[in-house]
Amino acid sequence: MKAHDGMYIGGEWRAAAGKGTIAVVDPTDEQVIAHVPAGTAEDVDAAVSAAREALPAWAATLPAGRAGRIAALRDVLVARKDEIAETVTAELGAPLPFSQTVHTGLPILVAGSYAELAASYAFEEKVGNSVVHFEPVGVVGAITPWNYPLHQIVAKVAPALAAGCTVVLKPAEDTPLTAQLFAEAVHEAGIPAGVFNLVTGLGPVAGQALAEHEGVDMVSFTGSTAVGRRIGATAGGAVKRVALELGGKSANVILPSADLAKAVAVGIANVMGNSGQTCSAWTRMLVHTSRYDEAVALAAQAAAKYGDRIGPLVNAKQHTRVRGYIEKGVAQGARLVAGGPEAPREQGYFVSPTVFADVTPEMTIAQEEIFGPVVSIIRYEDEDDALRIANGTVYGLAGAVWAGDEAEAVAFARRMDTGQVDINGGRYNPLAPFGGYKQSGVGRELGSHGLAEYLQTKSLQF
Ligand code: NAP
Ligand code: MG
Repeated sequence: MKAHDGMYIGGEWRAAAGKGTIAVVDPTDEQVIAHVPAGTAEDVDAAVSAAREALPAWAATLPAGRAGRIAALRDVLVARKDEIAETVTAELGAPLPFSQTVHTGLPILVAGSYAELAASYAFEEKVGNSVVHFEPVGVVGAITPWNYPLHQIVAKVAPALAAGCTVVLKPAEDTPLTAQLFAEAVHEAGIPAGVFNLVTGLGPVAGQALAEHEGVDMVSFTGSTAVGRRIGATAGGAVKRVALELGGKSANVILPSADLAKAVAVGIANVMGNSGQTCSAWTRMLVHTSRYDEAVALAAQAAAKYGDRIGPLVNAKQHTRVRGYIEKGVAQGARLVAGGPEAPREQGYFVSPTVFADVTPEMTIAQEEIFGPVVSIIRYEDEDDALRIANGTVYGLAGAVWAGDEAEAVAFARRMDTGQVDINGGRYNPLAPFGGYKQSGVGRELGSHGLAEYLQTKSLQF
């Protein structure tokens, strides 16, 4: 696609208020592939005005009407799926097959789920002598990261539109082309002017202006815990609704009775997908001492196989950051059994699939979110020890439990402080609520729980 040099506001591409631009870089070869405008507070203000103006009519549109527009949006995404996959690959660096299946397939699935939910959701409930109406929260400021560029956008915009809210989106500076493509799709789908608006720009400028804007009723943010904390504080100060989807450091708990080979293979694949840039990735593998050496050998083999299938990291900063974490792991005494800090290629932000053994729970690599293809294998002595380690970080986004007996795995999962647990490699469910315990966030995305985030109640008594 060709990059737009303006903002999508009020149903049209408008010239940006300022002259600044952002260079978009292909992380595979480090070449600049496009420029997009760097939005200012003025652009954000124009977009919020457009969203406010469009709100009454969109909120009053019957759910079936909103559902029809979201279904049309899903159809446009389907029709343009090759272009989406190529765009994500160009600006994120994901291998094309992964962009085709996950980066394109997942948002299509989620958009489809909200077309159905908008039509079937009960926006009204009877409670005793009251009728409770579920009404849209209002204008939503959505701030998204680069790791799943289209999914993160759709996971906010589709439920917001289904709820009757209008939206201003500030996408990640690293992946604005996918966001522009999404805006084109919204337009093609016939979604009324001002219901969705796009302002590309930098986080501390456009993002902050959006989070602080008085005309924004709710902020939905996905990204780092550091920025999430600030946005939460800003929203709290202004008494705005806020949803935060932050980092993770999830545990893959392999109980002694588990199918070890399967648990390790799926566990490594879970982290290496998207080059380790998944907030819910199971970056800590917990193995009983009796099977530890076997697991380490299997993990090293599995990681080595990813060598030439893995894409680069998104940018130079993440490249430096992730390799710094690998160096720190070595310095703190963890044992490298696959990969390492050296860049495997001369060009592009590549990191070798890396596995550390002899990781202790308090090491930096076992506590902080690395956001790269790095797995830490941690030894435990018994189940209580495993639970202490699994719950022993500030995060609680996801996790996995493997056991010979499903009930045994479920019993363990129920004791974990985390928002999602896959039992013996359970299948991904796009309708299951996704979100964090502890510092992994506030609120839930996806399915009916994700829709409820964008609704507020009004009770009428009779
Ligand atoms: P980030 O800075 O939190 O970026 C997320 C979004 O917030 C981007 O759109 C960003 O804009 C925007 N933003 C940044 N500063 C802001 C501010 N002061 N006010 C409002 N919005 C602001 O994350 P990152 O720098 O891209 O990545 C850093 C680390 O965050 C990663 O290493 C990883 O650990 C974590 N992360 C987590 C997730 C997740 O899914 N939970 C996703 C991505 C990253 P810019 O793009 O201009 O910065
Ligand atoms: Mg940033």
